[in-house]
Amino acid sequence: MNSAMPKQTEREPEIDQRFDAVVVGAGFAGMYMLHCLRQQGFSARVYEAGDGVGGTWYWNRYPGARCDVESLQYSYSFSEELDQEWHWSEKYSPQPEILAYANHVADRFDLRRDIRFETRVTAATFDEAANRWQIETDRGDRVSARFCIMAVGCLSAANIPPFEGIDEFEGPIHHTGEWPQEGVDFSGKRVGVIGTGSSGIQSIPIIAQQAETLTVFQRTPNYAVPAWNQEMDPEYERSIKTDYPALRAKARARPTGIFFPFNIKPALEDTPEERERQYQTYWDRGGLPFLGAYGDLLFEKDANETAAEFARRKIRAVVDDPDVADLLCPDDIFGCKRLCVDTGYYETYNLPHVKLVDVSKKPIERITKGGIVTDGIEYEVDMIVCATGFAAMTGSFEKIKITGRDGLPLTRKWEAGPRTYLGLSTVGFPNFFMITGPGSPSVLANMIQSIEQHADWMVDCMSHMRDIGAETIEPTQKYEDDWVEHVNEVAAISLRSTCSSWYVGANIPGRPRVFMPYIGGFPIYVQKCNEVMTNGYEGFSFEAGADTNAPPKIRNTDRWHVELDMDVLSPAAVAARRIPMI
Ligand SMILES: Cc1cc2nc3c(=O)[nH]c(=O)nc-3n(C[C@H](O)[C@H](O)[C@H](O)COP(=O)(O)OP(=O)(O)OC[C@H]3O[C@@H](n4cnc5c(N)ncnc54)[C@H](O)[C@@H]3O)c2cc1C
Repeated sequence: MNSAMPKQTEREPEIDQRFDAVVVGAGFAGMYMLHCLRQQGFSARVYEAGDGVGGTWYWNRYPGARCDVESLQYSYSFSEELDQEWHWSEKYSPQPEILAYANHVADRFDLRRDIRFETRVTAATFDEAANRWQIETDRGDRVSARFCIMAVGCLSAANIPPFEGIDEFEGPIHHTGEWPQEGVDFSGKRVGVIGTGSSGIQSIPIIAQQAETLTVFQRTPNYAVPAWNQEMDPEYERSIKTDYPALRAKARARPTGIFFPFNIKPALEDTPEERERQYQTYWDRGGLPFLGAYGDLLFEKDANETAAEFARRKIRAVVDDPDVADLLCPDDIFGCKRLCVDTGYYETYNLPHVKLVDVSKKPIERITKGGIVTDGIEYEVDMIVCATGFAAMTGSFEKIKITGRDGLPLTRKWEAGPRTYLGLSTVGFPNFFMITGPGSPSVLANMIQSIEQHADWMVDCMSHMRDIGAETIEPTQKYEDDWVEHVNEVAAISLRSTCSSWYVGANIPGRPRVFMPYIGGFPIYVQKCNEVMTNGYEGFSFEAGADTNAPPKIRNTDRWHVELDMDVLSPAAVAARRIPMI
């Protein structure tokens, strides 16, 4: 296996240093958390495994990596100056530009001096006598902090299935989420790509341009809608920047935290001809907004099937070989797994040197010195790309030995699936916060918005605790149980909870099957968090020295008072308002 890990630079371990907060991870979440903590006068140390900021955009350097939420929306909103000064060159910017943006933010807000790079947190233990977290790293650091804040990312623990013989392979193996910084040259190589999720769909067309031959091993086909990516239209950029806060506000009112045209009408209320026109209009807009063609696509199976069939017809229209087209056509719910956004993906299978191998019924048997074996056939390759995704949502938590009250390991508490209150915190782990944790909108929303909202809430909570002299905060069992039940009940009304996706942990054998993100929608969720805060942190208990009667002062969270856009409330949001939250 090739590793994307940077070489470590020398530094002395930090021993016995004390901080108000330790933050694990310096992706967009850890970076913004650090900024908030500093602004409120908290001391903080951030530990980051990579040798730079950016998280997802630091690790995922595979060819074709780019965001699938428009860059003008997939960006921080906390600084109007930052919004104005940064220029995105494309509608969906590529990984190097998003990484450059992360570096720009780190420099502009002077973040690096509190981040220790090339340092992996290995253990976090709550010391009940001191009411502090003891943090250990793979560099020998042993520090303590009142708060432990996990900014480890929902999609950061690369998943490489334990293929038999993988260590015998003589060529390089690269996971898309741990891509070498120096890049990979495919020219003259016979390349095997395993996996056809989002990373596979983005990288396959570009790898095919270089490779001598490309063999793609597909377990499950995925739906992909063309991105129709383009250079940033200066007129459009100007129009957004004239009133950027207006776009941010409109986006926050949407279930996904992303603004795009959305038609609330149920699909079957239109005639087949009207539907065809409607789907074509949304297809021509491209990308995730296609899901806005009708309001019930993710909730009504019959409605969904009309979109699924439209997408299948598009695949068959592009792919020349009908057998290959059949293999590429998913037969499950459209958008049930995260919808992929492509550029030239299906066209790639018309190239003579590209081959699709179906491993759905006959899985990969083993990897040999020079190939990949399935169904008794060895496909010879010089290089393997694992586009096999992540141990989503909880994978990076599992890699750290996190121990709460009474020696309780987080992994044991979450044995049957993650349990949290609001995706922010979990019983038994005082002063332990998770940014975009399971049980929050996280991967179902524009993640930078979710990150900012969480960090703002956390730092307001910490400031409140300082105001009232509280040492610890922890959710109560009843509120956590009720929240978990609410998350599950809302998930059950969505078709998304019905298929084997990484949302339910189904991509990793042996994982409990639980729908992990909160599907009630971003605005409903934000309202709930605000309500909890204004009700004096309802559902949480403070300990040690707290005068709990003092009303909370709202600082950062002030900017998250979203208006619900009733015209575009999804059925999940409607249900979320009906189904009791606590
Ligand atoms: C290819 C790809 C494309 C995506 N596109 C979009 C998009 O278009 N829109 C969208 O909303 N979201 C997208 N996402 C999701 C993306 O992960 C988030 O948008 C966002 O970047 C997450 O930021 P984060 O800081 O929470 O996590 P990450 O960016 O994952 O950062 C977490 C950091 O924590 C570090 N870390 C983890 N464990 C430890 C440890 N034990 N010790 C030290 N450091 C640790 C990791 O090294 C990593 O740098 C995409 C994800 C991928 C993989």
